[in-house]
Amino acid sequence: MSKDYDLLAIGAGSGGIATANRAASYGARCAVVEADTRLGGTCVNRGCVPKKVMWYGASMAHALEDAAGYGFDVKVNGFNWTQLVKDREAYIRRINKSYENTLGKAGVDVLQGHGRLVDANTVSVGDKTVTAERIILAPGGSPAVPSVPGAELGITSDGFFELQDLPASVAVVGAGYIAVELAGMLQALGSSVTMLLRKTHFLRNFDEMMHSTLTESMQSAGVEMKTGFSISALKQTDDGILVESTDGATCGPFEKVIWAIGRKPATAELGLENISLEVDPRGYIPVDEFQRTSVESVYAIGDVTGQAELTPVAIAAGRRLADRIYNGMEGRKLDYSLIPTVVFSHPPIGTVGLTEDEARKQYGDSVEVFSARFTPMVSVFSEHASKTAMKLIVEGPQQRVVGCHIIGDGADEMLQGFAVAMKMGATKKDFDDTVAIHPTSSEELVTMR
Ligand SMILES: Cc1cc2nc3c(=O)[nH]c(=O)nc-3n(C[C@H](O)[C@H](O)[C@H](O)COP(=O)(O)OP(=O)(O)OC[C@H]3O[C@@H](n4cnc5c(N)ncnc54)[C@H](O)[C@@H]3O)c2cc1C
Repeated sequence: MSKDYDLLAIGAGSGGIATANRAASYGARCAVVEADTRLGGTCVNRGCVPKKVMWYGASMAHALEDAAGYGFDVKVNGFNWTQLVKDREAYIRRINKSYENTLGKAGVDVLQGHGRLVDANTVSVGDKTVTAERIILAPGGSPAVPSVPGAELGITSDGFFELQDLPASVAVVGAGYIAVELAGMLQALGSSVTMLLRKTHFLRNFDEMMHSTLTESMQSAGVEMKTGFSISALKQTDDGILVESTDGATCGPFEKVIWAIGRKPATAELGLENISLEVDPRGYIPVDEFQRTSVESVYAIGDVTGQAELTPVAIAAGRRLADRIYNGMEGRKLDYSLIPTVVFSHPPIGTVGLTEDEARKQYGDSVEVFSARFTPMVSVFSEHASKTAMKLIVEGPQQRVVGCHIIGDGADEMLQGFAVAMKMGATKKDFDDTVAIHPTSSEELVTMR
């Protein structure tokens, strides 16, 4: 019997929307199921987009601090967090609307409600059921909260985006990029921020040069770091929230505590048991290189697969899947190697490829490292000048570039082009043969000796 749709995606976030739109462009009959009243998923509503708006706000605060160095006599009369949040949410509403329009124009149906697998070709949405030839699982994930007494006193990144007022004091718990970004933004916008780290430093998967340089910058901006702090409980007092550690230390009180300890996949309520689809020990859905699950007709895309949890990755994987299935592009799939990524810290970090440690493990003595560390020209008149640091990691007699790591003003925009070069197999000689753009920070990467 013919199905209602050729393709149905559960989740209208980055992955689900991209897959359905691309498939529909080839004539497939598509629908997306979305539990939230807003389209766009984490990135648009609780992730990249609102985060970047706040990062721009924090960058303005830094620029205002530095303006005096360039001769401006600036008096800042205040900062209106509530107004910024209001404008940000209005901007997001416009994006939600544009998604609605794009899906409408592409002929993709939006089914509002919670999607649950009934069988390998059927999904229930509320009290209705729909059938599809192929089902794409793209439900993303949500922030993890530890199971310690008082955990509910803390908020997560979702709660951060709901804050209507700037908190006077905040503890950010976690060591990943979201923890670092939220801590940096809050400090720049006027909160007093303490980062609580279980180990010795944050961004542990990044090159050492990146996290050590950022630690310096954040500390010089006023962020307090407490390392080796393993939380046992949160307690509400009249003065705020106290944080207790397993070795009896106490920290606080804080107006807000933010859990930024990682994310968990949204697989619990998907009805996976109805199609005997097993998740891995962390709850993620295992897929092969073509995003296929162990059940024919069911695919998974994006954060729920636990691979490089980034918006462009979910989008690229979904589009390639649609290209392959609905446009005859045989073998088309996402290559998950050399994915560039940026941490929107102050200053930002841009990174692609192997860290020095990873490269040495993989390639041993054939690895060479080139690095530079300097004060960028923009901050020569600044009181709290943060350093720019860069590292190129090359391997083998051809000196193929296998890692490129940048922290500093502009790193976020600098990296994309270098990532293209590396994807094409660029060598150190290719970098050296490229004429520098002067005066910039990025010229250091083509003049390293
Ligand atoms: C604070 C933060 C900052 C981030 N910053 C960046 C960044 O700067 N750059 C970047 O590339 N990435 C960033 N990310 C990651 C990025 O948001 C995700 O990688 C991306 O959104 C994943 O897309 P997805 O399609 O897998 O899932 P999502 O975008 O999470 O979409 C999943 C959708 O599925 C819906 N859903 C779930 N279950 C069901 C169900 N059963 N039925 C119906 N609907 C369901 C959800 O409501 C959601 O709308 C950030 C994430 C966070 C939390």
